[in-house]
Amino acid sequence: MSEKRDLLNYIDGAFVPAKSGAWLDDIGPATNTPIARIPRSSASDVQDAVNAANAAFQGEWANRSRLERADLLEAIADEIAKRAPEIAHAESLDTGKPISLASTVDIPRSESNFRFFAGAVRHDETAFHGMQGALNYTLRRPIGVAGLITPWNLPLYLLSWKVAPALAMGNTIVAKPSEMTPYTATLLAEVFDAVGAPKGIFNLVHGLGGEAGQAIVEHPDVPLISFTGGTETGKRVAATAAPMFKKLSLELGGKNPTLVFADADLDEAVPGTARAGFLNQGQVCLCGSRVLVEASIAEDFTARLVEHVKAMRVGAPDDPSVRLGAVISQEHRAKVESYIALAKEEGGEILAGGGRPNLPAPYDKGAFIEPTIIGGLSIDARCATEEIFGPVVTVHTFKDEDEALEMANSVRYGLAASVWTTDLKRAHRVSAAIESGMVWVNTWLLRDLRVPFGGMKDSGVGREGGKHSLEFFSESRNICIKL
Ligand code: NAD
Repeated sequence: MSEKRDLLNYIDGAFVPAKSGAWLDDIGPATNTPIARIPRSSASDVQDAVNAANAAFQGEWANRSRLERADLLEAIADEIAKRAPEIAHAESLDTGKPISLASTVDIPRSESNFRFFAGAVRHDETAFHGMQGALNYTLRRPIGVAGLITPWNLPLYLLSWKVAPALAMGNTIVAKPSEMTPYTATLLAEVFDAVGAPKGIFNLVHGLGGEAGQAIVEHPDVPLISFTGGTETGKRVAATAAPMFKKLSLELGGKNPTLVFADADLDEAVPGTARAGFLNQGQVCLCGSRVLVEASIAEDFTARLVEHVKAMRVGAPDDPSVRLGAVISQEHRAKVESYIALAKEEGGEILAGGGRPNLPAPYDKGAFIEPTIIGGLSIDARCATEEIFGPVVTVHTFKDEDEALEMANSVRYGLAASVWTTDLKRAHRVSAAIESGMVWVNTWLLRDLRVPFGGMKDSGVGREGGKHSLEFFSESRNICIKL
């Protein structure tokens, strides 16, 4: 694979540049060098993509049987599997994440997203409501052109999580990946091309959020928008789409608590808390960035967490022993570092990390940062309430369950939480009381693709996963027949 190339739009089955001829650089954050260029697409490119998607939708695609659509999804999964090493390499190059992570999580999960929704749509059932003298059944129809907008942290994983159910239900697609991580979306377009997917069912438009992204959201012929990204961007997307009565799914930011009770098995809770805090350099929306520990074990637990995290290696993404790669960009590192500086001003103490690792060239220019643990902050400090989205966790102590819940629920976000306890009753009680779309007990990020995925409060609207995705990407119609 060439490491510096033009990543084109994919519109109506053809790879094309922006009509304006404008380009944006795609920077590899581990070395801070350009690895590719992408078209800086405008509303006019989006118009072409919507035209192609609409024509494909009006054509035979929406009327293909579910089994035929499922077969296509399986063919896409097979092709991803065939090209997995190359795709994992591209994902690592584009994001700075370790190749070991891309090749064991991002790419296998992208493949399984297609296989999963192929299976889901094959086995999908519809509702039937019998009544005296009549019967009702629910008909689910595709809606049309789906606008899919995705972030940079898990580029292909999150894009495929939307593409697969949208197609499974018979819609067509205009997708815009993050301008920071466009690489694997183009490789996915190549996969569609290679398997002979019908032209126009999957269109890819690269570019900036405020230009290409905004043009998709405001396009009158795109009746559904599935967006994953930051809460502030989500607000703008909602402000545009809601008055147009578009179907809207918003997966937004988080500031997720990890609750460690005194009865927890610390041999599991310590590595579990570290994994939740620092996987993908802390750039997973589900990352547990607020660690809440029961006071009676706080000293022991924190010492063990600090020791564990200090042993996590940061460095070259292609080194298999490395646990953390680069964060997404120099600008993002500066933002994360500004929070670390703020933590000190807010009275925090840096217990681990806080600086940049010393790495040899070419990684000395990369956006690396040590995994950082901060103690001593109040629970309402900015570092403990705002989404940093980097390798930084704050540790706080609580005296009892009530205080733990009050602290857990004290932020504007409500995406995910993890609870570490060996008390079964407490596990149920706390899980029910946490304001969060997802709660893990004695684990974190253990995923079954059928379960509802999404957040409450400022973390989003709607759920993805299994039947929730199939429902979002279709219109339910009740048919009532008098007998
Ligand atoms: P972002 O909001 O900056 O960008 C997300 C996408 O939206 C990008 O493709 C961007 O180009 C596009 N965009 C920007 N402005 C737009 C506009 N006006 N109209 C349409 N599209 C626009 O987010 P990011 O920095 O790429 O990603 C990090 C954020 O994503 C974090 O807040 C993280 O928590 C969140 N996230 C949430 C989930 C989840 O499932 N809840 C998953 C991953 C990431």
